[in-house]
Amino acid sequence: MRLHQSLLRSNYCPLVYGLRHTHDTTPRKYSPFQDTKGTFEFALARADDLLNWGRKTSMWPMTFGLACCALEMMHMAGPRYDMDRYGTVFRASPRQTDVIIVAGTLTNKMAAAFRKVYDSMPDPKWVVSMGSCANGGGYYYYSYSVVRGCDRIVPVDIYIPGCPPSSEALIYGFLQLQKKIKRMSTIQKWYRK
Ligand code: SF4
Repeated sequence: MRLHQSLLRSNYCPLVYGLRHTHDTTPRKYSPFQDTKGTFEFALARADDLLNWGRKTSMWPMTFGLACCALEMMHMAGPRYDMDRYGTVFRASPRQTDVIIVAGTLTNKMAAAFRKVYDSMPDPKWVVSMGSCANGGGYYYYSYSVVRGCDRIVPVDIYIPGCPPSSEALIYGFLQLQKKIKRMSTIQKWYRK
């Protein structure tokens, strides 16, 4: 109780100013509490937190293995790495997914189908580019038939380097994507429009 009172008296809130820097009263860069006086804004920020928590803990990737990188992607879903514990469950239909992992070499022939699959996914959606081929063409950069990076077809959120990247790298990429989703402020932006 005393601690609570002293926090109130010093106008200190760990959510706003961070837990480690007790004497630093500058709001954290990504804190949604930049203006702490508006109660409604506070409530909107909490609603965003709830939405983001739901989104980041139930990412359902589309099964989209294009080449050898797909093997590492499959490992991620297997019992050794068990991505189910993060709420990441692969789905076979774009209508039920919110993430697409571009795992392999994207050819010109496949690019149209890839775009169609991406367009079929409901918003909000994210793209993880896995491996050198998807990131920028990789070994096949000079090939007549390969797209030099899947970001020429769709916007990419996370790039994972390597040939192939390990399953651990893909998991790390997903953790980074979770961080990105955590910072989204959908409701606040809608309100401020
Ligand atoms: S990055 Fe390497 S492992 Fe992945 S699809 Fe290309 S050649 Fe295969």
